[in-house]
Amino acid sequence: MSKASSAELPKTVDPYRLAEHNSDLEGEIPVRALSRFGDAVLGYDEGAVCHVKLQFYMDSERRRIVSGELEAQVKLECQRCMGAMVSLLTSRFVLGLVTSDEQAQRLPKDLEPFLTDDFSADLWSMVEDELLLVLPPYPLHERDECPAKEDLEAYEPDNASAEPEKRPGDNPFSVLAGLKNTKH
Ligand SMILES: [Zn+2]
Repeated sequence: MSKASSAELPKTVDPYRLAEHNSDLEGEIPVRALSRFGDAVLGYDEGAVCHVKLQFYMDSERRRIVSGELEAQVKLECQRCMGAMVSLLTSRFVLGLVTSDEQAQRLPKDLEPFLTDDFSADLWSMVEDELLLVLPPYPLHERDECPAKEDLEAYEPDNASAEPEKRPGDNPFSVLAGLKNTKH
C-alpha cells in the first residue's frame, strides 16, 4: 500500500448510509490510539499507523456489508528467543452490519457480524478487533534470523541422530559440570 495517502480514517460513520451509496473509505489509524491492541503487542514505532481500505455495499440479499483489508507493522515477542521481532500484520474481512444480536444470528455463516448503533459505528474499534484477531498466538522469528537458533539446533532430533554419541563439548551444561568437578 502507498504511503502517500496519510489521511486519518474517519472514526465514527453512518455505515448504513455508506452501504446504500456504495462508498469506499481509505485511511490510517495511529496505532497509539488503539490501546487494547497496543497493550497486546510488544511495541511499535513512534508514528506507526494501521492502513485501512473499506468498501461498503449491499449484497444480493440487501444485507449491508463492509469488507476491507488492513495492514500494520508492530513488534511482537519471539517465543523462541523472547526478543523483539518486527511483524507486518495483515487482514482481509467481510462483515455484515447488524444492530442487534437477533440480526447477527440471521447472518449466513460466512459473514461475521459488525454490531453497530442505528446510524453510527466506531470504525477504529472495528479495526482494532480485526487486528487482535490476526495477532499470531505464537510468534517466531524466521529460523535463520532468530538469535536462539543455535540453542534450538543443539536440541534438534535431526542433529542428535546425525551424531548419536554425545561429546562433553556439545552441551554447555556438561562443560559447566566439568568446570565444577575441576574445583573439587
Ligand atoms: Zn527469535
